[in-house]
Amino acid sequence: MTSPKRLVLILGDQLDLKSAALHNFHHETDEVFMVESMHEAQYVWSHQAKIALFLSAMRHFAQTLKSLHYPISYIRSTPLSIVDALKERIQQEKITHLICVEPGEWRLKQEIEALANKLGLQLEMREDEHFFCSHQEFTDWAAGKKELRLEYFYRLMRKTHQILVDADGNPEGGQWNFDQDNRKPYPKKGPGIIEEPILFEPDTITQEVIAFVKKTYPKHPGSLEAFRWPVTREQALEALNYFVDYRLRNFGVFQDAMWTDTPYGWHSMLSSSLNLKLLNPREVISAVINAWKKYSLDLSTVEGFIRQILGWREFVRGMYYLDMPKMAQDNYYQHQRSLPKWYWSGQTNMACMKDAIGQTLRYGYAHHIQRLMVTGNFALLAEILPSQVCDWYLAIYVDAIEWVELPNTAGMALFANGGRFTSKPYIASGAYIKRMSNYCGSCQYKPDVRFGDNACPVTTLYWNFLIKHRTQFEASPRTRLMTANLKRISDEDQSSITKHAKQLLNHLNDL
Ligand SMILES: Cc1cc2nc3c(=O)[nH]c(=O)nc-3n(C[C@H](O)[C@H](O)[C@H](O)COP(=O)(O)OP(=O)(O)OC[C@H]3O[C@@H](n4cnc5c(N)ncnc54)[C@H](O)[C@@H]3O)c2cc1C
Ligand code: SF4
Repeated sequence: MTSPKRLVLILGDQLDLKSAALHNFHHETDEVFMVESMHEAQYVWSHQAKIALFLSAMRHFAQTLKSLHYPISYIRSTPLSIVDALKERIQQEKITHLICVEPGEWRLKQEIEALANKLGLQLEMREDEHFFCSHQEFTDWAAGKKELRLEYFYRLMRKTHQILVDADGNPEGGQWNFDQDNRKPYPKKGPGIIEEPILFEPDTITQEVIAFVKKTYPKHPGSLEAFRWPVTREQALEALNYFVDYRLRNFGVFQDAMWTDTPYGWHSMLSSSLNLKLLNPREVISAVINAWKKYSLDLSTVEGFIRQILGWREFVRGMYYLDMPKMAQDNYYQHQRSLPKWYWSGQTNMACMKDAIGQTLRYGYAHHIQRLMVTGNFALLAEILPSQVCDWYLAIYVDAIEWVELPNTAGMALFANGGRFTSKPYIASGAYIKRMSNYCGSCQYKPDVRFGDNACPVTTLYWNFLIKHRTQFEASPRTRLMTANLKRISDEDQSSITKHAKQLLNHLNDL
């Protein structure tokens, strides 16, 4: 008896030959199905480089599958949604079995399950083996805990996977966290020579995609001129090796530093390759540990990097699936303002925002502190509606996929879930940006001035936020310290801050 034909759906962020979707693939009867849905590029307003990255990586992956003789049906640029294109194929081919790996996006998972139900399909939705922590493990860890904190989850991951721990489960170097050695600003004279990251010239497939995106999505934000992202597994591995050989050594210490026209600093730029599954986090961690030994790197930099992958990346994914769909609707402070228009153009007088948004539009990239403490901090202080902010982050970064973007934006940057996994809102005045960057030196505003024409909008809105939420902040031991400095500001000055902030908030588009 011949086996039934099974359709194996591979999504644009599941480009891994070892993917669970391809386990037990029957070359004689099964078919891989991939779809370039124009609907997906449009339902969020995506950066042109993000669309190009997905399309190019998908086309390269399909080419690899073909070279390995996988039967594949690859639908190019259809106006249909992924699920509608899938439905069409299932009906055309009278498919009864659908196999896929659980999508990273909650909405898509629901839609595929609903389709399978509706069509009476046998659906095998397999666990995504790319991650260290399964949903079940995360749910078990979170169960009954009053506070969900990265630190304890990260320690568990270190012990479970025997990473940077000794045989007794104690942390390498005697401590779990080396944050105090990291997170320094660049020297006053500037970052000096930073080893350039490896960049990839677009090949024929990527050039074709770039031309297609320019023609099809001309009004979408961002530029394609600097498109140099890895689009194949080979390139992603090259980028990983280059990073650990040349750039990892200064990652930790300058992890939070910012400097004009220094878009990448010492960061890895591996997030898009990891999120598309061109790289596996296990091989990234192994490469980092090997480099640590080979080059005698500081443990602080190695631990700092591993914390991002084994800690934060796994943690936010766990939180996403634990808290969806509520996470997308949370609005703890009930903020309702619209995102200022210049988030899409970079045309603002604030030097810090101009630089962070400008490089984002050029490259589809900004590093963590630019996302958290520049654009994210401003959006929280300016009381922007969280869903609009989240839409912006999802649109504008090449590595943005909802499972990782939403918890970082809504949960971490905007405190929209009221501190479900952060102890207090991440807010800062212009003084922090001045300390961590050179932005303020070229800005028309003054970071230390709280109100008046020269006042830094970040500073004004920071103090306004504290004044507004003072009672609540003082009620909690975690936030009490944040309002302590308000005691040093006279009542008169506080009312000037409030008045100036009101003006700013009413004219955000003019900043
Ligand atoms: C508001 C906001 C939105 C964000 N949106 C995204 C997003 O859409 N996609 C995304 O991959 N990351 C997102 N991040 C996390 C982080 O900023 C990026 O992963 C990082 O900047 C990517 O650059 P990199 O590869 O050079 O990272 P590096 O600084 O070199 O870090 C190494 C790797 O660690 C992982 N990592 C680091 N921080 C985090 C984190 N907080 N959460 C999850 N993984 C992390 C990434 O895989 C990254 O490649 C967001 C952070 C904030 C504050
Ligand atoms: S002065 Fe304020 S607005 Fe200007 S760069 Fe500094 S922090 Fe940003």
